[in-house]
Amino acid sequence: MRSYWDTTAWQAYDLVVIGGGIIGISTAISYAERHPDHRVVVLERGHVPFGATTRNAGFACFGSLSEIAHDIDLMGVDAAHDLVRMRLDGLRILMQRCGTESIAYNHDGGSEIFLEDHPALRRIDDVNAVLRDIINENAFQQRNDLRAAYGLSHDVVALIHTSHEGTLHSGKMLRRLWKLAAERGVEIRTGSTVTSITSNNSSVRMQCASVQQTVDIVCSNVVVATNAMIPSLVQSPAIPPILPGRGQVLVTEPIPGLSLRGSFHMDEGYYYFRELDGRVLLGGGRNIDIDGEATLSHDTTQRIQDVLEHVLRTVILPHQPSINIEHRWAGTMAFTENKQPVVAVAEPRVIVAFGCNGMGIALGSALGEQCADLLHT
Ligand SMILES: Cc1cc2nc3c(=O)[nH]c(=O)nc-3n(C[C@H](O)[C@H](O)[C@H](O)COP(=O)(O)OP(=O)(O)OC[C@H]3O[C@@H](n4cnc5c(N)ncnc54)[C@H](O)[C@@H]3O)c2cc1C
Repeated sequence: MRSYWDTTAWQAYDLVVIGGGIIGISTAISYAERHPDHRVVVLERGHVPFGATTRNAGFACFGSLSEIAHDIDLMGVDAAHDLVRMRLDGLRILMQRCGTESIAYNHDGGSEIFLEDHPALRRIDDVNAVLRDIINENAFQQRNDLRAAYGLSHDVVALIHTSHEGTLHSGKMLRRLWKLAAERGVEIRTGSTVTSITSNNSSVRMQCASVQQTVDIVCSNVVVATNAMIPSLVQSPAIPPILPGRGQVLVTEPIPGLSLRGSFHMDEGYYYFRELDGRVLLGGGRNIDIDGEATLSHDTTQRIQDVLEHVLRTVILPHQPSINIEHRWAGTMAFTENKQPVVAVAEPRVIVAFGCNGMGIALGSALGEQCADLLHT
């Protein structure tokens, strides 16, 4: 049995956020900034964060030419335009909160490379026109001259560059956000796995299991920000389908004379690479096995890693005789059918937030603001 002190001081909150990734912690920060006297806790199952936010590639990006052209076809000009605006708003909030130094942000621009002709190359003027009121200049420029400067393969037939993209250190970014949340009075409890939630019009109850104990927590509001794991806690007709997608990554040993700068996208975003402390970080390959990669598993697979190594040796480092791989990992992304992120009231006082579709660094802070807008006070 719990003491009176526990139930009134340790198990009662105005807001519980489940999941300590970028969406969860950004929500906690946005809410705490608006309600400094409210009690807010973030419950994170890992002893350190254990989600996509510290398993990604660290691109602070808003979408490549071919991705945005694809989005225009999928969702229409207005929705694609607004989605880019939301990504850039999210990046602006993130940078205002964190600054550049603490998250190792480099504003080196981004490039999309094409190994063959692609219809998006003929749409550059149209896409630039769609984004003009957000970016105030041409977002994308054809810069084939950079192919040699970056040491890329001659198989690269076109390079589209944007100066509005950067890279950062995802681990430092989340550490910084956790620190900012704590400074605003947010409690963060690691090793705390929420196993069930029930809600009514006045409060929400949940069970939270840690190594030593299982506790009941009562609160006024919950935000569930557990990425593609949301359905294990909340199911509701208000939640559109969440499509999990595993992303696999490798990082090479330091490469002497590496001349890559900024971030790189290839194959409509299915491959991405960057320089990282003199190494190459390369991720992607999900398109090789879409069904097999629709998983919550964090394991890497030989099949995808082999494809990544092939891209590494033939496209990115064609002149490098031998390359050792120092790190390999995988993480889970939450995709939606219409590529739009979701912030929705799933049950009374229970909000879900997910669906960054592979761009959570950009969208996470904006979704945190949207959650804070919806919360009861
Ligand atoms: C390989 C890879 C590369 C990527 N590259 C980029 C990139 O370069 N740029 C970009 O913008 N985006 C990228 N993304 C996408 C980005 O990382 C995600 O969109 C973003 O991190 C999602 O944030 P989140 O807060 O929703 O989820 P997460 O970061 O996954 O956070 C969810 C948290 O919930 C916790 N949790 C789960 N269940 C429970 C529970 N029951 N109780 C308590 N806690 C729980 C998890 O441990 C986790 O820490 C990439 C993703 C992957 C996998």
